[in-house]
Amino acid sequence: MDSTKKNNPVYSQSDTSKVEITDAEWKKILPEDVYYIARQKGTERPWTSKYENLKEKGTYYCAACGNALFQSDTKFESGCGWPSFYQPISKTSIIYTPDHTHGMERVEVQCGRCKAHLGHVFEDGPPPTGLRYCINGVVLDFEKAKEAEKTYNDKSKKE
Ligand SMILES: [Zn+2]
Repeated sequence: MDSTKKNNPVYSQSDTSKVEITDAEWKKILPEDVYYIARQKGTERPWTSKYENLKEKGTYYCAACGNALFQSDTKFESGCGWPSFYQPISKTSIIYTPDHTHGMERVEVQCGRCKAHLGHVFEDGPPPTGLRYCINGVVLDFEKAKEAEKTYNDKSKKE
């Protein structure tokens, strides 16, 4: 996969500067399903994500902006129907916001770079964190370890 996306000028796997654009602009650059979840806090139907059972080694990025979110080695089978992880890549890759909607007390997780809605975090995950990041697969981009390595090598060659 490319580290840039057609029609999405903010998508980058190397630029870590915050993305602050209007919803109208997001609507123009994101596919409809990504926009619905990332910007309108939608939820994909459970068991529909191609990443739900994916066990390949690699990195999961924000589908809206390319921010690295999770490594495959922190992914686990939660049985909840959505891709689940017990730990984000770094403290700053995710933003936490209290969510009181639908009569529940939950913690919403958003992309640390573009504030896309990703899903929720629950305290019933496995060790070492005991957390379960329950993430909509639609807002994730997966890149296999080998390809990520190649991208890295290409980049360091250029620099
Ligand atoms: Zn993002």
